[in-house]
Amino acid sequence: MSNRRMMVVGAHSADFVWRAAGAVACHTEAGGEAVVVALSYGERGESGKLWEQPGQTEENVKRIRHTEAEKAAAAVGARFEALDLGDYPLHVGPEAVDRLAEMMRDFAPNVVLTHPEHDPFNPDHPAAHAAVAKARLLTSGAGVASGFRTAPPSEFLVFEPHQPELCGFVPSVYVDITPVFERKVEAMAAMQAQQYLQDYYRQRAEQRGNHARKVTGDSGIRQAEAFQRLLPNAVTAL
Ligand SMILES: [Zn+2]
Repeated sequence: MSNRRMMVVGAHSADFVWRAAGAVACHTEAGGEAVVVALSYGERGESGKLWEQPGQTEENVKRIRHTEAEKAAAAVGARFEALDLGDYPLHVGPEAVDRLAEMMRDFAPNVVLTHPEHDPFNPDHPAAHAAVAKARLLTSGAGVASGFRTAPPSEFLVFEPHQPELCGFVPSVYVDITPVFERKVEAMAAMQAQQYLQDYYRQRAEQRGNHARKVTGDSGIRQAEAFQRLLPNAVTAL
């Protein structure tokens, strides 16, 4: 059983579902612990369907999105935490970066996942990346003994954005999510406001599954998720 800890940070409450829910499920099924942090609920910019309801309010949308994200996180064995910083635009001020760093020091993740640095279609995703990268560095110091509380450096990967080529995303890791795919489907189904993304990300998982088969020769892989490592990983043997 693994005792590894994974932290996934998204700009909006549903981001982790499309891009990393399978990897989270694999991690928790192996005995690891996972926490999903949403910097905002995506209440204004990623909840279109909920706004079709007459008399809808921002507070109500946030409530619904919180419940949905908790349900999605539970489907893949993770805990959900929300910072509720507001979306479109997401501003992650110094206090919020400190809060994120404190959460990282407490949880001491072995692996941190977030958005890529660039996204020409989304103003919030790069803001989340910058905040996570900074909080992560503040958490580990410079990887040496420091005059403040630290946690060991984590692995740092970004998950696949909606339009990978335009975000400079080049996969360096495929996670075989075949055994947990139904749990990802369940997590996606919890996000009622973004039903249209379910088919899209189901297809993406199949395509990445094809790529993972090609790279491994393992015909048993059906679905996969792609990630890009931002830092080298150290191993004891090749
Ligand atoms: Zn988003």
